[in-house]
Amino acid sequence: MGDQTAPIVIVGAGHAGGAAAALLRQYGWRGPITLIGAEPHLPYQRPPLSKAWLKGETVAASLLLRPVSFYAANAIDLILSQRATHIDRAARCVVLQSGARIAWHRLILALGSTVRTLDLPGITLGGVLTLRDIANAEALKAALRPGARLAVIGGGYIGLEVAASARALGADVVVLEREDRLLARVASPPLAAFFRQHHAQRGVNVQTGAHIESLEGKHGTISGVRVADGRLCACDVALIGVGAAANDSLARDAGLECDGGILVDHATHTSDPAIYAVGDCTRRPLGTMRMRLESVPNALEMAKQAAADICGRPPPAPEVPWFWSDQYEIRLQIAGLRDGAVECVTRGDPRTASFAIWHLAGDGTVLSVEAVNAPADFMAAKALIAGRRRVMPAALADPSRSLRELAA
Ligand code: FAD
Repeated sequence: MGDQTAPIVIVGAGHAGGAAAALLRQYGWRGPITLIGAEPHLPYQRPPLSKAWLKGETVAASLLLRPVSFYAANAIDLILSQRATHIDRAARCVVLQSGARIAWHRLILALGSTVRTLDLPGITLGGVLTLRDIANAEALKAALRPGARLAVIGGGYIGLEVAASARALGADVVVLEREDRLLARVASPPLAAFFRQHHAQRGVNVQTGAHIESLEGKHGTISGVRVADGRLCACDVALIGVGAAANDSLARDAGLECDGGILVDHATHTSDPAIYAVGDCTRRPLGTMRMRLESVPNALEMAKQAAADICGRPPPAPEVPWFWSDQYEIRLQIAGLRDGAVECVTRGDPRTASFAIWHLAGDGTVLSVEAVNAPADFMAAKALIAGRRRVMPAALADPSRSLRELAA
């Protein structure tokens, strides 16, 4: 791109927005860069909020992606505690809640997502919490004393991570999942079964097929969760962990194409070529599909794509989507997408809590891996997925065969 001295505005000072600002400078952008964030914090990592930070194993300062000095040294202007309320595409400026208008030549939307809630009687009771940001995490941490009774509504990754952390803090935990298994949208049945058993062994009361009827309270604070079969799960605090929706209303109101996320192309352009969108707030092309990914690697990859395109650099090499989750002493790493898989091969023994579930297409092409304390399988599969390589299922299932010799 020609004029590398024009102003760039990034709305959303989270993982993707913070990375985009840093990468623009790294790639040589010389013009003003302004990073606008609704939260009072510098860009920070959210993953520890359900894991190490919640357990008290790491301090708040370690959450920050970069120290405040980085932004000053790189001439990145920060406007924090300010929400952008309107995009004026004709005048090329963003309007803030204060009424200030910030002009841009290129705009990056990095708006993240908002936790879904449930339309249930009692949802506004005290002690009914969600987890997306530092303020939510502080409220949750304050409630998780030894002996506290936590009801986690929703057996997805965040709910299960909080369940594991709460057990480490001495809380009693029940997980109530509406589907007939945990992680129904985001993990294969054998992996979900492994986590169910592991949580049960750690003293978590896991209930699937649990339809919640109401949240019951005493003196304005939650005292239990009523399940449709009439049972009452007594609790002092409840975490609603039922997923998150893309923050795309700012873009939609500005006339940008959205469909459960801001629609972008491979270079993260929205339907307005001067406006980019990155991270959780987008629905991006992946293979022949359009997908909404909610992960740190996705936020970083898209920030790279936007910054490279704006600075006129060649597009970065496409990455295999991946994700991780930490629960107890387990590190789960997932690479690729299971869509289209017809065969599933387990390498290693789930009873040892070190194994990998490989998902293959009909011709043996590796599509995805779910690796439990198995970083070598994760790395090998990621390379095979990127190269669209095939493996022989029988060889894969044989632990005496090395991963290196597996490609057919
Ligand atoms: P965010 O980091 O959410 O940043 C968006 C920012 O934009 C927010 O600060 C928001 O306040 C701000 N904003 C929104 N609208 C406006 C506006 N109008 N004006 C100004 N600012 C605005 N991913 C993994 O890969 N592995 C994990 O283990 C993992 N664990 C997680 C645990 C928790 C508890 C949570 C909440 C998420 C976890 N994730 C994990 C997901 C990961 O954190 C997100 O995918 C990542 O933060 C996405 O980055 P983002 O920049 O798109 O959005």
